Amino acid sequence: MRSHLLNDATAESYRRSVTEGVERVAAKLAATHRPFTGVTPAELAPVIDAVDLDRPLGDASAALDELEDVYLRDAVYFHHPRYLGHLNCPVVIPAVLGEAVLSAVNSSLDTWDQSAGGTLIERKLIDWTTGRIGLGPSADGVFTSGGTQSNLQAMLLAREEAKTQDLAKLRIFSSECSHFSVQKSATLLGLGADAVISIPVDRNKRMQSVVLAAELEACRAEGLVPMAIVATAGTTDFGSIDPLPEVAALADEYGAWMHVDAAYGCGLLASRTRRHLLDGIERADSVTVDYHKSFFQPVSSSALLVRDGATLRHATYHADYLNPRRTVAEKIPNQVDKSLQTTRRFDALKLWMTLRVMGADGVGELFDEVCDLAREGHALLAADPRYDVVVEPQLSTLVYRYVPEAVTSPDEIDRANLYARKALFASGEAVVAGTKVDGRQYLKFTLLNPETTAADIAAVLDLIAGHAEQYLGETLVHA
Ligand SMILES: *Cc1c(COP(=O)(O)O)cnc(C)c1O
Repeated sequence: MRSHLLNDATAESYRRSVTEGVERVAAKLAATHRPFTGVTPAELAPVIDAVDLDRPLGDASAALDELEDVYLRDAVYFHHPRYLGHLNCPVVIPAVLGEAVLSAVNSSLDTWDQSAGGTLIERKLIDWTTGRIGLGPSADGVFTSGGTQSNLQAMLLAREEAKTQDLAKLRIFSSECSHFSVQKSATLLGLGADAVISIPVDRNKRMQSVVLAAELEACRAEGLVPMAIVATAGTTDFGSIDPLPEVAALADEYGAWMHVDAAYGCGLLASRTRRHLLDGIERADSVTVDYHKSFFQPVSSSALLVRDGATLRHATYHADYLNPRRTVAEKIPNQVDKSLQTTRRFDALKLWMTLRVMGADGVGELFDEVCDLAREGHALLAADPRYDVVVEPQLSTLVYRYVPEAVTSPDEIDRANLYARKALFASGEAVVAGTKVDGRQYLKFTLLNPETTAADIAAVLDLIAGHAEQYLGETLVHA
């Protein structure tokens, strides 16, 4: 069994094995003609059930053959131009190369003595990101597993920096379109069930700063403490960006921590033409970025950045077996002192390889392309009498709904849209997402693939209309 350990003696077997895996995936990518096969859980479960984990196959080729059936054949492929579902991007090759290197070397970024150069590379990328944001000379941060964890840590720091220890008094303000991890974090951090105050959005789905001001004032009047304002820079549904300068001014006025959740919009940091959309982000106390959304990085790659690096001490604990107190005096860079995680992947290497091969402009161009595509898609939808489209996109999402002329019942239209989404998924021809707007069922394109064209969007809109019409036709027959 030692032949399976990766070491000096098995370097050749490692090369062969991984190359075979890469060749299979490469062949798969080249031969994928739709984003999904439409397989159902009921169809796939028996295939996976049939595998006896206590009877190993012994060699990689056999396991790869099996993998074709249990995974590769029916996976959802984000690189396909008609995958328009969630906030998943096709990945860039330099990042995938970084992934291969980091898992083989297997550094763990908690302490210097488990990573050495990896720690310094991560630190340099944190500095690069805080520089792009403009957080100033005391800024710092750490890579995380995703936006959810970044938001949780940001709220932890905000709670610890708040002007009271009385958790029942703390309030967080975020828009009704903010990510659900804000609410989750509040619960995990022991805040009250009503700790998060949801601020309504305007018709462009941006937080209404006038209402925010009024709510902050009401909070103060009631003797409560505004702990944090979470501005979303790229809402998950609409890509809308909250008014960052207004939020910053209110955070100053009320002494609240300003957090910018730029999990989605962070790609603008690399854009040469749209960076101004994030103006005001430099005034944040903390920022969430998901490189695995708009920097075309494989999952996971994310970070939390803070204006004042000293605030990261709220996540610092010392253990004799890992990062004893003396290591601080000895100036040994232990990233675990800044992180909620202990053992931690060297995800930063993927971004490093990306910047070293393509540069930031290369990434920014890709994100600009999908934002441009969203504008084209919006024009198509706005001109199409079959559809109702919600807002003009600031980033790369489009939320719309099929509205047949003849049907007047909104419930029936809801059902037709839901049916169309499911039928499309089952066909595997394209994948789109769904959401609700004012209680009504809408559909959503999240455009993160520069290979997707306006013609793809038009074709998918025809497919959706076809499914919706079929549903309405059938319900009419049965009525
Ligand atoms: C995706 C997203 C998150 C959560 O990030 P994960 O990486 O999925 O944990 C948080 N906030 C916003 C605005 C998001 O779009």
